[in-house]
Amino acid sequence: MKKIVLFSLVPMLAISVFETAAADKNLPGYTDTPVIPGQKWRVHDANRPRPKVVEVGLSKTLGAKPPKGAVVLFDGTDMSQWSHNKWKVEKGYMEVTRGSGQLNSKKKFGSIKLHLEFATPEKVVGNSQGRGNSGVFFCGKYEVQVLDSYNNISYADGQCAAIYGQYPPRVNVCRPPGEWQTYDIEFHAPKFGKDGKVTRSAVVTVIHNGVKVHDQRELIGPSGHRGVKKYVKHGPGSIGLQDHGNPTRFRNIWVVELDD
Ligand code: MG
Repeated sequence: MKKIVLFSLVPMLAISVFETAAADKNLPGYTDTPVIPGQKWRVHDANRPRPKVVEVGLSKTLGAKPPKGAVVLFDGTDMSQWSHNKWKVEKGYMEVTRGSGQLNSKKKFGSIKLHLEFATPEKVVGNSQGRGNSGVFFCGKYEVQVLDSYNNISYADGQCAAIYGQYPPRVNVCRPPGEWQTYDIEFHAPKFGKDGKVTRSAVVTVIHNGVKVHDQRELIGPSGHRGVKKYVKHGPGSIGLQDHGNPTRFRNIWVVELDD
C-alpha cells in the first residue's frame, strides 16, 4: 500500500516543483494569458517545457537553387519584390533596419513551399524575445518565429521555429549567432465557407536546418501576442518578414506555389 501512495505522489510532486521553479527562476513567459484552445498550456506559458536542444550541422538545403517555375523573392541584390527597400542589402543578404518596418512581398500567395535562409546577429545583444527576433508571416497573419534560441531561453511557443503563440518546435536545432540557417516550410492556406467560417485550418510543416520540427501542424488561428485570435476569412496574402528591431539577416528566398 505504501508503495502505491509513493508512486502516485511522485508525478504530482514533480509537476508542482516544476511550476514553482518557473516562477522562482523568473523564466520568461506568462502565467496570466489565455489557455490555448485544445492544449493545457497558456499562450507564452512560462511553465511550458522548452524543447530539447539537438546539435545539427550545417543544413543540406543551404544555397538550394529555386526550381523551375519558382518565384524568386530575394536573390541577394534585388528588392523589387518587396514593399520597401529600407533594409540594408549587402554581400548577398538583406538585414533588418530597426524601425523601418516589416517587409511584405508585393505578390500575394495562398498555399506555398518556401525556402529561406536567415542568420541571427553575430553580436549577441539582449535576451529572450529581444535577441535576434524576426519572423516569417504567411498570408500576412501566421508567424513562424525567427529568434536566436542558441543558449537563449524564452517561452517555448515563442522560440525559434515556433508557430508563434501556439506550438513550440519539436526540438531546438538552432545554429549559433551569425551562422546561416534554413527554413523549408510548406504552408497550406485555410479555407473558408460562404458564411465566412473556416472549413479547413491553415496547416504548416516546418523543416528547420533539415529537421522536421512541425509535421502538418493545424493552426488555431492567426498569430498574436499574449492572446488567441480567431480565423477571419481572407484570401491570398503577402509573405512578411518582421522588423522586431534586431539586425537579423535573410537571403535566398523563393517560393513554389501549390495547387490546393
Ligand atoms: Mg517574431
